[in-house]
Amino acid sequence: MSATVALHDVAKSYRAVRALRGVSFELAPGRISALVGHNGAGKTTLIKLMLGLIQPDRGTIRVLGEDPAAGAFAGRRALGFLPENVAFNAALTGKETLAFYARLKGINPRDGAALLDRVGLGEASRRRVGTYSKGMRQRLGLAQALLGWPRVLLLDEPTTGLDPALRQSFYDILDELRRDGATVLISSHALHELEDRAEQVLIMNQGSLVADGTLAELRALSRLPIRMTLKL
Ligand code: ATP
Repeated sequence: MSATVALHDVAKSYRAVRALRGVSFELAPGRISALVGHNGAGKTTLIKLMLGLIQPDRGTIRVLGEDPAAGAFAGRRALGFLPENVAFNAALTGKETLAFYARLKGINPRDGAALLDRVGLGEASRRRVGTYSKGMRQRLGLAQALLGWPRVLLLDEPTTGLDPALRQSFYDILDELRRDGATVLISSHALHELEDRAEQVLIMNQGSLVADGTLAELRALSRLPIRMTLKL
């Protein structure tokens, strides 16, 4: 199966801070992958690079076969992103919010309404987002990221602070996307939050990829430096 996302020897610094020190990995279609590491390990920098928001100092990045930072990147509409802290306009309803993002992406707003049902916000869709709980805002964020049913979906710490039932329903939706052949990458501080859903686990530590394998393979490794603190 050919990779939908491929990074080769990617390095990135912010002035004196070396955020990434030569990172290489591939993500396959139809798979949920986890990007795990402590604060400052470089997870968000990797996501920003895959979205084409910043350029690497060294190395190559391919998303759906192209450089995501190139002006002519054709895969942009096939790329979904859920940021860590989604901020929505409190005065808009859920339905209006998704219609707004649908228009930005050139998607029929009616598709947005269907996604609200899919994430369990159908009944709340006419309520203003300012009245939503954190879990509801997260689900609205997921609906936004799913607009256009992306082929590559990147989620930055999506389930932090969610209760287990909500996390479960979150992963059920991601499973559906995966079964449709999408590539799903979830970044997280804690591997146990991924509920064993990830088939590939990438562990970052201080800008370097220190492990890349299945959960079973990583559990079998005896010398993983940050194993305990990530609660493998
Ligand atoms: P977190 O879980 O806190 O989001 P992370 O694993 O996503 O952490 P990054 O946000 O990629 O890590 O940060 C990697 C390193 O780069 C950190 O040392 C961070 O302080 C630094 N960094 C990130 N963005 C910038 C920036 N815009 N300017 C300067 N330094 C930055």
